[in-house]
Amino acid sequence: MSAILIENVHIAPVVGEEIPSGHIHVEGDRIVALGAGPAPVVAGATRIDGTGCLATPGLVNTHHHLYQWASQGLAQDATLFEWLTALYDVWAAMDAEVVRGAAGAGLGYLALSGCTTSSDHHYIFPKGRGDLFAAEIEAAGEIGLRFHPARGSMDRGRSQGGLPPDVVVERLDEILDATAEAVDTYHDPSFSSKLRVAVAPCSPFSVSADLMTQAAALARSKGVRLHTHLAETLDEEEHCLEQFGLRPVDYMEKLGWLGPDVWFAHAVHLSDGDIDKFVQTGTGSAHCPSSNGRLGAGIARVSDMLSRGAVVGLGVDGSASAELTSLSGEMRQALLFQRARYGPTALTARQALELATLGGAKNLGRQEELGSLEAGKLADIALWRTDGAFASAVVDPVCTLVFGSRQPPLARLLVGGETIVEDDELRTVAQDELGRAGGLAHRRLMRLAAERGFIAGEEAGS
Ligand SMILES: [Zn+2]
Repeated sequence: MSAILIENVHIAPVVGEEIPSGHIHVEGDRIVALGAGPAPVVAGATRIDGTGCLATPGLVNTHHHLYQWASQGLAQDATLFEWLTALYDVWAAMDAEVVRGAAGAGLGYLALSGCTTSSDHHYIFPKGRGDLFAAEIEAAGEIGLRFHPARGSMDRGRSQGGLPPDVVVERLDEILDATAEAVDTYHDPSFSSKLRVAVAPCSPFSVSADLMTQAAALARSKGVRLHTHLAETLDEEEHCLEQFGLRPVDYMEKLGWLGPDVWFAHAVHLSDGDIDKFVQTGTGSAHCPSSNGRLGAGIARVSDMLSRGAVVGLGVDGSASAELTSLSGEMRQALLFQRARYGPTALTARQALELATLGGAKNLGRQEELGSLEAGKLADIALWRTDGAFASAVVDPVCTLVFGSRQPPLARLLVGGETIVEDDELRTVAQDELGRAGGLAHRRLMRLAAERGFIAGEEAGS
């Protein structure tokens, strides 16, 4: 088993005391020890000098739509419903090749921002366009990130009172079969797992109540987690009141969708009672501040949620509503949003780091394995260089990481002890090629959409 010793490093473990100058000892894919002072002598160990660096747990991204890498910059000034309406028809044209290129670029971009584990929520499966779910799993495997793809779905098209056009929805029975197959084929529940599947109908305004309840039953029968969008905008709340006579969280409660195995994306518009329900049931949420800001959706009550004990993680959300958003940057975005709204003590730098790490691990049900630097946990570690010429005047490295608008250089990113990034370069894949493939995926999607009669640039651009 290979050993790694990271030495002379400032450790912010998220759980436990910070260590201003210490070491981390990794054996195989686990952290076996960490502490103050020099590392022990371990025969054959690879030594990494962490002088001038901050070690944190690898960041955990708990909401994304990787395919959207191929449709960035469209509908720039739209509300959520306007934006979705403009883009559904474009997305209907995607195929496995588009998803492969988009997912590679999106995941590579995440890794370069310190992310070691990402979920993805893929909910559009046009017929006859290849295996889209397999395409993104292949991309994650090539880069070497831990991946939690959620098999999404929509079954309530416009003709049924939903928002999406009928062309992008599937039948309920097809969805349940395909979702069960995705779990059976890919889900790995082991401690060291790099691949876990979740069940994820898209949102209250694109999914029937039947699909919601049957999806929950399916997920629970297979022991996997549940994910959906919730309480993102006031338009959604209005839709739920009109169609179901209930506000979004009450509607989810009625459908059996609150619990420790559920995490929602956004959860912006929550009442005190809603937050209480999240706390009582252990329901988690993924805070996506850049996307919420971009779409003018509002600011989630993260500070209130944390003070009451709710589980909150971070998500960058899909790149079409959060162009070029880095996960490290979402810590700062979350902190500034909370402080702008609630004052300077609403969220500390260390709370923002906890959202991005342990909060995310809890959303994904992996708090025993991930989210903090502790002996026994998986060796998913980010080493940030915080001694650069301009950063050297900042007294606190966690402040450098969270407060600065420019990410400190990523000296090293380890996933289970394996180096994924070194000195801001991906090491497992050719970084430039990955980026170019993302651009090709964009051009391919635009061409396929144009062939179907949708000119995204003009119709969706505002
Ligand atoms: Zn989303």
